[in-house]
Amino acid sequence: MPNKSKKLVVVGSIAFDSIRTPSGDARKALGGSATHFSAAARFFSPVKMIGVVGKDFGEANIRLLNKLGIDTTGIAWREGKTFHWAGYYEGDMNQATTLKTELNVFSAFRPELSAADRAAPHLFLANIEPRLQLSVLSQMNKPKWVACDTMNYWIQSAKADLLKVLKKVDISFMNDAEIRQLSGQSNLLQAARWLLKQGPSVVVVKKGEHGVLCVWGKRIFFYPAFLLEEVKDPTGAGDSFAGGFLGHLSRTASKIHEKDLKNALVYGTVIASFNVQNFGLTRVAALTFPEIEARFKQYREMISLD
Ligand code: AMP
Repeated sequence: MPNKSKKLVVVGSIAFDSIRTPSGDARKALGGSATHFSAAARFFSPVKMIGVVGKDFGEANIRLLNKLGIDTTGIAWREGKTFHWAGYYEGDMNQATTLKTELNVFSAFRPELSAADRAAPHLFLANIEPRLQLSVLSQMNKPKWVACDTMNYWIQSAKADLLKVLKKVDISFMNDAEIRQLSGQSNLLQAARWLLKQGPSVVVVKKGEHGVLCVWGKRIFFYPAFLLEEVKDPTGAGDSFAGGFLGHLSRTASKIHEKDLKNALVYGTVIASFNVQNFGLTRVAALTFPEIEARFKQYREMISLD
């Protein structure tokens, strides 16, 4: 159960997502990096979302997030429309193709942290403009750790700011294409080593259906994805992975230990596998902790060498 002293603050996008996959489509479904992250992390830690929405967001969405136990008091309502992302997936669905990124209220967003948020021990800078990630970092007192995520859109348009962010974080999340794009290295291990030199002490590389690679100093961990018969919508898989991973890590000792890191990788893998079983937030919003634990056990058996 979430422990109140292990608070996790997330700053990221809150979006309406229009998604098409070989299994169907969803129009303006509740999504965004901060939303998917929080819906997963809430199983382990009290989570507070910081972000912005437009007047079209709807109280019902706030009620849903509150029902999941997420603190939404850091969400600012602004004149204008909520951020809208549209994209589709094909084939192995490992990569989204973006059709539209309508920043809307996001383009004028300046995150303002309250005194309590600044004192939070754990911070996740979810996928959002790197300049905003820097502004949040500059407001924090002395977090025990900070993690960040990003995407091709920002690597292309705001690389210098992103490198400044990476200098100041402890844990970085990227997918394989993103880390290759940022580092210029095609070999993933070399790309991860390059990233370790930029600042973070833990580099997590998500490889979609091929699982996850984690490099921590000289240690390397590599876990396959939980195998499913059907993947309906991969949107938010990366964020729910980060939610399970950081949610678990935030309830452990502030110094990172190998066992906690390994369990965090498995919790991330397990929650991401639920997320992709339905469109948007649908599956994770209905998820229970016993279901997570049962799949955790099943996964351990799946990868066991005994
Ligand atoms: P992922 O976990 O990587 O699949 O992230 C999916 C989420 O990222 C979607 O819910 C989108 O709303 C959000 N997203 C897409 N493009 C951007 C962007 N440029 N900045 C912030 N969030 C985005």
